[in-house]
Amino acid sequence: MESTLHRHQESFSQPRSLEAKRYDDAYRTHKQDLKVTASRIRDEAVSYREFKVGCALLAEAPEGKTVDYTIHFGYNFKPVKGSEKLCAERNAFESAIGDQSPHIIAIVTVSQETSTGDPNQSHSVLHPCDMCRTMLMDYRERGVISGDTIICCVNDGEGTEAEEECTVDQLLARYNDSSIPAQAVA
Ligand SMILES: [Zn+2]
Repeated sequence: MESTLHRHQESFSQPRSLEAKRYDDAYRTHKQDLKVTASRIRDEAVSYREFKVGCALLAEAPEGKTVDYTIHFGYNFKPVKGSEKLCAERNAFESAIGDQSPHIIAIVTVSQETSTGDPNQSHSVLHPCDMCRTMLMDYRERGVISGDTIICCVNDGEGTEAEEECTVDQLLARYNDSSIPAQAVA
């Protein structure tokens, strides 16, 4: 079965620091691994309505590890209607933070869903929900991620494969979420 691949890539408008360049190179190197990992773990997701999301994070390895980067992952968990929603992104971040990862370089999500829950925002891929965007703002404030951290959302539905790549600041600006630095708004 053939599928068309639509790519959407925002240009990184801000001049990027050397560190951002190094992180970007690391992300490019590991991108395929991240996508495969997120896709595989998505299949483990627990959802009473088959709403399945997988998330893989590329993290700078904590001191003492023999590798430079580590990959953490998580899937969403909502076994019954009305139960607490545990998003794939949140579960992946808990793994990375539990491992004492000093910095998250990239966030990759894979799903066949597209609704973010916001009727004004319709996309070909699933974006992080409002709770996850609040989490991203909080982690940005604490330095776990930066505004330059890359977020790549993939929809691997048959015949609809799509991919969106931007920075955390660019994503947050699209939702007009509060606490976003003015210069991040295009
Ligand atoms: Zn979420």
